[in-house]
Amino acid sequence: MRILLLGPPGAGKGTQAARLAASARIAHVATGDMFRQAVAAGSDLGARVRDVMERGALVPDDLTVAVVRQRLGAGDCGPGFVLDGFPRTLPQAEALDGLLTEMERPLDAAIALEVPEAVVLRRLAGRRVCPRCGATYHVDTDPPGEGGVCRCCGEVVAQRGDDQEETQRRRLEVYQRDTAPLLGYYAAQGRLVAVGGDGPVDVVAGAVLRAALGRQGR
Ligand code: ADP
Ligand code: ADP
Ligand code: ZN
Repeated sequence: MRILLLGPPGAGKGTQAARLAASARIAHVATGDMFRQAVAAGSDLGARVRDVMERGALVPDDLTVAVVRQRLGAGDCGPGFVLDGFPRTLPQAEALDGLLTEMERPLDAAIALEVPEAVVLRRLAGRRVCPRCGATYHVDTDPPGEGGVCRCCGEVVAQRGDDQEETQRRRLEVYQRDTAPLLGYYAAQGRLVAVGGDGPVDVVAGAVLRAALGRQGR
């Protein structure tokens, strides 16, 4: 199964990609997570993406595509993958098409998570992440453990630097300008499936799985 998730920051892409990866036994490929890990590790890649991410701007396409190309070649992507946060621009989408054609592994579907803007803003404002293992929480709907610690690894959870209000707004603008046009791009390919993202996590996960299974191999 080869799926990508589209939607603004805070739509629930990461949450749903993790669910889909577990239920369909496919790899979860999240460019934002990969970039954050590179920053935390202090690698060359981390040094190149750090400031851009902090500002809420996009990492350059060539760098992002190179990272994804390498990641999709890894063994765990053999059974399939769900892309989370990639592509984010038209050139990235075109590069992905080229890459998947080359691999003879076309995309099954682009699933768009539809969530009203007011909900997205609440989700971003309450998002907390574990700096050690990357687990995601929400102060209201999915709070961390006692004392604000990660239920997976015990680290104290924190707000992402780019989830501060000012940067949030910037990222939503970038989404509208650079990423929203991908909805039309995948619709024109006949690959776009819209799923309502404004419900409980389990309900959305069921709808995403049905959409993915319904498109498989078509
Ligand atoms: P969110 O989950 O809020 O949508 P991500 O974790 O996917 O955010 O991404 C965080 C940041 O990482 C982005 O704001 C951007 O700076 C960078 N990034 C992630 N994916 C891409 C991409 N495909 N192209 C360019 N930059 C990216
Ligand atoms: P994205 O990857 O699209 O930026 P996330 O998966 O990180 O979005 O979700 C953003 C925030 O919203 C997180 O705090 C997450 O716990 C919360 N969240 C995700 N899905 C739901 C949902 N269906 N209902 C309520 N809160 C949700
Ligand atoms: Zn953790």
